[in-house]
Amino acid sequence: MSDTKHCPNCGGLEQHPFHKAVKDEQKYIESQGHNPAGWWRCGNRGEKGRCLWVQPYFNQGAGLTLPESFR
Ligand SMILES: [Zn+2]
Repeated sequence: MSDTKHCPNCGGLEQHPFHKAVKDEQKYIESQGHNPAGWWRCGNRGEKGRCLWVQPYFNQGAGLTLPESFR
């Protein structure tokens, strides 16, 4: 299951594919004080590698950027 959304880190008006956060990503989200259930990650790839944006599916304002180690 995947979907496309606007990504604040990638910018622009383009929509990017998002996928459900995997275990390591969920662990980090939890360590930041959030319940990782229902969080998705931007699947776009830029010059530097994978995009680090994660967010609750319907709440972009609550999202965050993963550390560089998640590239
Ligand atoms: Zn992105």
